[in-house]
Amino acid sequence: MASHIVGYPRMGPKRELKFALESFWDGKSSAEDLEKVSADLRASIWKQMSDAGIKYIPSNTFSYYDQVLDTTAMLGAVPSRYNWSGTEIGFSTYFSMARGNASVPAMEMTKWFDTNYHFIVPELGPDVKFSYSSHKAVNEYKEAKSLGIDTVPVLVGPVSYLLLSKPAKGVEKKFPILSLLDKILPVYKEVIGELKAAGASWIQFDEPTLVLDLDSHQLESFTKAYAELESSLSGINVIIETYFADVPAAAFKTLTSLPGVAGFGFDLVRGSKTLDLIKSEFPSGKTLFAGVVDGRNIWANDLDASLITLQSLEGIVGKDKLVVSTSCSLLHTAVDLVNEPKLDKEIKSWLAFAAQKIVEVDALAKALIGKKNEEFFSANSAAQASRKSSPRVNNEAVQKAAAALKGSDHRRATNVSARLDAQQKKLNLPILPTTTIGSFPQTIELRRVRREYKANKISEEEYISSIKEEINKVVKLQEDLDIDVLVHGEPERNDMVEYFGEQLSGFAFTANGWVQSYGSRCVKPPIIYGDVSRPKPMTVFWSTAAQSMTKRPMKGMLTGPVTILNWSFVRNDQPRFETCYQIALAIKDEVEDLEKAGITVIQIDEAALREGLPLRKAEHAFYLDWAVHSFRITNSGVQDTTQIHTHMCYSNFNDIIHSIIDMDADVITIENSRSDEKLLSVFREGVKYGAGIGPGVYDIHSPRIPSTEEIADRINKMLAVLETNILWVNPDCGLKTRKYGEVKPALENMVSAAKLLRTQL
Ligand code: GLN
Ligand code: ZN
Repeated sequence: MASHIVGYPRMGPKRELKFALESFWDGKSSAEDLEKVSADLRASIWKQMSDAGIKYIPSNTFSYYDQVLDTTAMLGAVPSRYNWSGTEIGFSTYFSMARGNASVPAMEMTKWFDTNYHFIVPELGPDVKFSYSSHKAVNEYKEAKSLGIDTVPVLVGPVSYLLLSKPAKGVEKKFPILSLLDKILPVYKEVIGELKAAGASWIQFDEPTLVLDLDSHQLESFTKAYAELESSLSGINVIIETYFADVPAAAFKTLTSLPGVAGFGFDLVRGSKTLDLIKSEFPSGKTLFAGVVDGRNIWANDLDASLITLQSLEGIVGKDKLVVSTSCSLLHTAVDLVNEPKLDKEIKSWLAFAAQKIVEVDALAKALIGKKNEEFFSANSAAQASRKSSPRVNNEAVQKAAAALKGSDHRRATNVSARLDAQQKKLNLPILPTTTIGSFPQTIELRRVRREYKANKISEEEYISSIKEEINKVVKLQEDLDIDVLVHGEPERNDMVEYFGEQLSGFAFTANGWVQSYGSRCVKPPIIYGDVSRPKPMTVFWSTAAQSMTKRPMKGMLTGPVTILNWSFVRNDQPRFETCYQIALAIKDEVEDLEKAGITVIQIDEAALREGLPLRKAEHAFYLDWAVHSFRITNSGVQDTTQIHTHMCYSNFNDIIHSIIDMDADVITIENSRSDEKLLSVFREGVKYGAGIGPGVYDIHSPRIPSTEEIADRINKMLAVLETNILWVNPDCGLKTRKYGEVKPALENMVSAAKLLRTQL
């Protein structure tokens, strides 16, 4: 009986890699320093797995930035603008592709499936010359071997690599990227050859695209690729690893018929249907890597339940052909619970981070061969039981209220154009009203005030007066700039989800539960462990204080339920929508309290609505239905004269535009920095949009200050497609990462542009 880990977090338990990377990028430490920290991290991870008794330990799952970029480096597919020539890609070219350099911007980054991890998108075309240009996989294999640990080198599989690529600039959009298979396979063969020569007996190809909606041509590419690799792969055992969902029936057939493959890995947590496919048609003689330990969440495994699943699989594939594994790489979970001394003991007993998941995998594998660690299993089942019955998890009133929402509908009684009329009577805004998205620059001083208040180093009075002073400054600035609808600037918030999570019941926070988002960036998602409720108002104090400082409308500023859900570790003991409905009810109470307190414009950010979209189209409708419903629940009870705004952090919503309209917000502001065309094309194609809309008129992700003319130009382009009376003028997103030196002139130009156009309309 054996155990396998698909992949492991690379940042380190205290984000050691992050700090080493950033210090290297800042020129504060050398390449050798960075390499040393990295080698130490790899060694300790391998040792940890080896000590735990894991049989198939992965290597090459470490990365200085991202494993897809590593594959681009392996293949030598460096876009020509980075001027690379040579034999082995070094840090300078590698990090230029990842982050750009003084003269060339970075390559594009996009989300890795439905996770919050982002990868660097390969740019390919007919002219790319592929050559073996990074020996990282082989080097890491040898490195582990020199430590006495025989590992399974992991490569992004050739077909998934191509399916995740995009045509390079200047290459036809329709360029058949899969036609490059013949050109990249020779490099894969070289890598395989070297790995074999170094002594590797297993190799893992990650082919997660197999869980997507693929057509028959795409599926055939898998057959073609592995047939082509078959002879190189003789003498080495191949695992094809899939994750994040179940493998659809046709893909399952293709996958399990691939020649020369010894074993297949499946996500049995998210891929519940895969179990049936395995039961009915798993090929005999092949090894099943059964991903029963969840790599996407922080919950302790229900070991008894997993054991039952594994025992039934044993009956199908045979005792010696079953390997216990994780559902996907542990990259997507937090690193080690050991570093959470302050976390509540009971809650802690319900959790398992990456380090603990390794132990779970091993314990399950041992239990299957009759070496069950009774103590470990009984502690686990006691924790499972306490989680089920704990009063901290269960709040009957909330459960009842949320259950009643299912199947119901919530809509404001009046349609949006009538509401906008009623609101305009009250607000009396000019055409092309100007506003911002919420946050203003977060200064070092502000962070200090928040930190010291949290640590009880300054009194509540001191804290309140500092924050009020800051709000006052931001209000005065906006009045001076002559912005029409103001914000308070969010100085009291460290993070738009954490701020609410800290005030809601049912949320826990970690000290070191970081998960890599991209490059050196990590996020620390809150843990939703129980029924969610709002003990008391969360934002009314600050919003009313801010409103009292100005006669102009001050936006109440909330994070929406779907975004709170999508940016947290969520419960696995109830469906996502149920948790979302609970959060929606809490936010609804807040919206209504703000309205009662005299706030007439309320923004409910749904920055991450799109992020929760399931991987396969067939499941989109169900998700969008409850997500949009949750948003409407928050504000369906307000008066016509209360104006509800929402904000979204992406422009690509062409495919979900009808759901966005169905949110029935009065005004939506959206990121639009990179392409007016894409966003506007939706409306040009005839989609009717009657609510207010503010496509961002400048990119806040860059320090660049846009000129009045440039902004006016963009607004004009929007006016060509959208009705004058629904268009709002605002930046792309919140301003918290910018400096005042950038924000002031940019907003000045934005307001001038709006005023200029008003005179021309
Ligand atoms: N109101 C938030 C802010 O301005 C929105 C942030 C976001 O969309 N990510 O910071
Ligand atoms: Zn945003």
